[in-house]
Amino acid sequence: MDVNLNFKSAAEAKKFSDTLKWPELKSAWILLGILAVVFILGFIFLPALVAFIEGGLLMVTGGISFALIYRAAKSERAGRLEKSELANILLGLDDALVVYDHDFNILFFNPAAENLFKTKSEDIVGQKFQPQDVGNESKKLLAQVIFSSLAPTVISRSRVGEYPQIVDISFTDPELELRVSTIPVRGELNELLGFMKIIRDRTREISLIKSKGEFLTVASHQLRTPVTDINWALQSLASDESLNENAKTIVETALTAGRNLFQVVEDLLDVAKIEEGHFGYKFEQVDIVQFINEVLGTVMPMSERAGIKIYFEKPKNDLPQPFIDRTKLSRALDNLIENSVRYNTENGEVIVRVEKVSDGPFLEISVKDTGIGIAPADIDNLFKKFYRASNAVKTQTEGTGLGLYIVKNIVQAHGGKIWVDSEPGRGSVFHFTIATDINSVPQHEMALEE
Ligand code: ADP
Repeated sequence: MDVNLNFKSAAEAKKFSDTLKWPELKSAWILLGILAVVFILGFIFLPALVAFIEGGLLMVTGGISFALIYRAAKSERAGRLEKSELANILLGLDDALVVYDHDFNILFFNPAAENLFKTKSEDIVGQKFQPQDVGNESKKLLAQVIFSSLAPTVISRSRVGEYPQIVDISFTDPELELRVSTIPVRGELNELLGFMKIIRDRTREISLIKSKGEFLTVASHQLRTPVTDINWALQSLASDESLNENAKTIVETALTAGRNLFQVVEDLLDVAKIEEGHFGYKFEQVDIVQFINEVLGTVMPMSERAGIKIYFEKPKNDLPQPFIDRTKLSRALDNLIENSVRYNTENGEVIVRVEKVSDGPFLEISVKDTGIGIAPADIDNLFKKFYRASNAVKTQTEGTGLGLYIVKNIVQAHGGKIWVDSEPGRGSVFHFTIATDINSVPQHEMALEE
């Protein structure tokens, strides 16, 4: 204990003596020296009382001045320390960091950026970048990162005008996957000084996702043919009149399981294609009301069998014509409507609506049901792969839990988003948007991580 105390006071004494040696305090020492000289002269030449008052005033002035200079020195030192810590963090960052002013003159280039762009900081800092630099082999990659619209494949991950702006950029030769976050750098008066780009190299991560996807694709393809054959054989067996009741029930059960298995294989194949970025979208402009009518036509027989009524509330005014992939979007809408029928209650209803979004170039389509609803804890997980809520598993034993994951990805590929409003026992409303402006539709598919 004693030792500690001694150590503590010795350390404090050292700290105190170091503080007295700060170069920032030099002006304070000079001032104190001058005050001391004035004080001594006062004592020699002035009457005792005046000298005494003068001495007091000089002490107060000296004390206040010293305290003010010490405070300023301390905050300057803290600022310097903060700056050097920040510089060390930026230099040690795993992600590449490039800072440039509003004229695209490079101001900062960290070692990770040197590695990624294969250029030394001293060769690049101070250089001005222009879109034409995309034609210059040594500047091409950085120019495509700075002017990302010039990169071969770009997918925006953030809304227009929202910061950080996040884009995923892919290059094929050589293979490179970058996630670029752009943040504006502002001065004290909030004036724009330039931009900071943080660039994460995701090439390895994406290649792992792709190889996982390739495995899934091959495995699903291999399963598809035997499952189809088995289902075909079971179907022929089920229609055999000579089977007794017991055998018929067994065959029917096997056939249902076979169909479910076939759906799993199909869904897995789609998931693999989506995650590899090879689902293959072909966009065309359509009349959305006509399109929804067509989808409803395909699900009607299933809803009639289930005794669920479907209503389509058409908009009063004409709607803008969105750009969609007919096959993919009908798959998504079909899935939502089938769910609203499957997870409905007896004699339930489904209402499909379409309307224009008031604050953007989007249409909103919603599917409302009077079904079992969804618990708040399940809502966050519904769009994840294989997730099925416990109330749904009880009422509908069949299901892959892949449908909504596929739907979400299809909606996102149409520049939209999907969400659900629901309460257990009080029905659900699934909403999704699709872009009516082709510029809001991602131009290329990309491999994705969940
Ligand atoms: P599946 O229907 O094959 O289980 P989905 O991905 O389509 O897979 O749906 C995931 C889960 O979301 C369902 O298992 C169910 O729990 C819930 N769900 C989807 N649609 C509805 C709905 N209309 N009402 C209640 N729950 C729903």
